[in-house]
Amino acid sequence: MIDETRRERLRQLPAVHRILSHPVCADLQRRAPRELVAEGASRAVARHRERILAGVASVPELEELARETAEWVESKLRPHLRPVINATGVVLHTNLGRAPLAESAVEQVVRVARGYSNLELRLETGKRGSRHEHVEDLLCRLTGAEAAMVVNNNAAAVLLVLRTLASGRNVIVSRGELVEIGGSFRVSEVMAESGARLVEVGTTNKTHDYDYERAIDGETAMIMRTHTSNFRIVGFTSRPSREELAALCRKHSLLLYEDLGSGVLFDIRKWGIGDEPTVRECVAAGVDVVSFSGDKLLGGAQAGIVVGKKNVVEKLKKHQLARALRVDKLTLAALEATLRLYLDEERAAREIPVLWMLRRRPEELKTAAERLAAAIRPASGGEVAVRVTPDVSQVGGGSLPAVELPTYTVVLEGRRWGAAALETALRTGEPPIMGRIHREEVRLDVRTIFPHELELCAEGIRRAFEQLRSRSRQPGEADGPVQQGRVRV
Ligand SMILES: *Cc1c(COP(=O)(O)O)cnc(C)c1O
Repeated sequence: MIDETRRERLRQLPAVHRILSHPVCADLQRRAPRELVAEGASRAVARHRERILAGVASVPELEELARETAEWVESKLRPHLRPVINATGVVLHTNLGRAPLAESAVEQVVRVARGYSNLELRLETGKRGSRHEHVEDLLCRLTGAEAAMVVNNNAAAVLLVLRTLASGRNVIVSRGELVEIGGSFRVSEVMAESGARLVEVGTTNKTHDYDYERAIDGETAMIMRTHTSNFRIVGFTSRPSREELAALCRKHSLLLYEDLGSGVLFDIRKWGIGDEPTVRECVAAGVDVVSFSGDKLLGGAQAGIVVGKKNVVEKLKKHQLARALRVDKLTLAALEATLRLYLDEERAAREIPVLWMLRRRPEELKTAAERLAAAIRPASGGEVAVRVTPDVSQVGGGSLPAVELPTYTVVLEGRRWGAAALETALRTGEPPIMGRIHREEVRLDVRTIFPHELELCAEGIRRAFEQLRSRSRQPGEADGPVQQGRVRV
């Protein structure tokens, strides 16, 4: 039953055509299709109708409806996939697009995207070429491998390798390496999908070469080694070295495959960071096929890179599945430009954002954090306490799980708003700013904020403060429904 008050309020709700002729909407219609603005107005009316029926609101002003319409339309006009400021300190954040590209890679993507290219054409002969050629020579040079190819991502590379080289046959894997990577990638499940049979050997913490050898029979196609990218087993542990496994494989005419996960072309151990083996080391140790991601520690575009023995990689290139998993020209453009930087290690360290971020020094980060804090403090109005504090950043992206990099964060502690409300305002602003909640504070780690973003970030924070202030002027909405967006790293 609707009572008379509600009935009267519903009657007074402005009609859509009145909202459309409000100056705010009239202006909007010069930039947005009329139907879109009309849809926005209908939605605004419907929302208020609901609230009136639920007895929680009175009749809104025409102005308010026009403003809501405009907000909705603006949100539809904005690109859905758009840049955000990563203030989480997590260098490889899968939800935030993993590796930002080097400037030279961005330029090459733009150049190739804008027109036609020799994607599958050999310019010297005018004959058909292969898209792999653009990066194969570089990859071989940087890893010491005989041949290379690139597919959509490393998960695709694992699938292609197993399907092509081991379908219907056995693949021996240590129980300590049956990993799951975020986003439902499990070695055992990819194996099942590929048609290869998984033969588990050893235990979680220890697997010996004789465990592998005992499992070898006429059905065995390969031994697979998986990099335990996102966890560490410490203590009483051991597994055979690559050299030992390579010798075992040679003795029994089997293939040795390593899913290296991140795959580094640059030895970051010399910076004292982690214990990630380089791809070159794996190849030199006698591994027949190695696969790794293009957008983890390598710092390039999303891709799965396969390097190894020529006869093996040739088989992969010819497999039907390779066509379904192939990369596009934009990825190749970005990857080629990124790989080119590695020809000069100094340049790679300086220009590839992932490498540059990993190596940022605490003193420099402290200066950046203090600059950011100083730029927002005057706007905090005493409602938010702003301070700078030492903290640690993580590498993320399932890479270097045990590594903690010393950093500095700008800490926002709301006196009037909770950490959740602050975090929401930052995340839903323009540009969106992603921080992390730590107890009752929001922490912004400057490691992953580019110097050229610092001022933009400060503006975004100031706007978020303003937003919170104006919302808390509307009673009861200061801490509105907060979505606790839990994100996967
Ligand atoms: C990250 C990772 C993958 C998946 O790579 P994507 O490029 O994300 O598809 C596979 N295996 C290991 C060991 C990994 O670390």
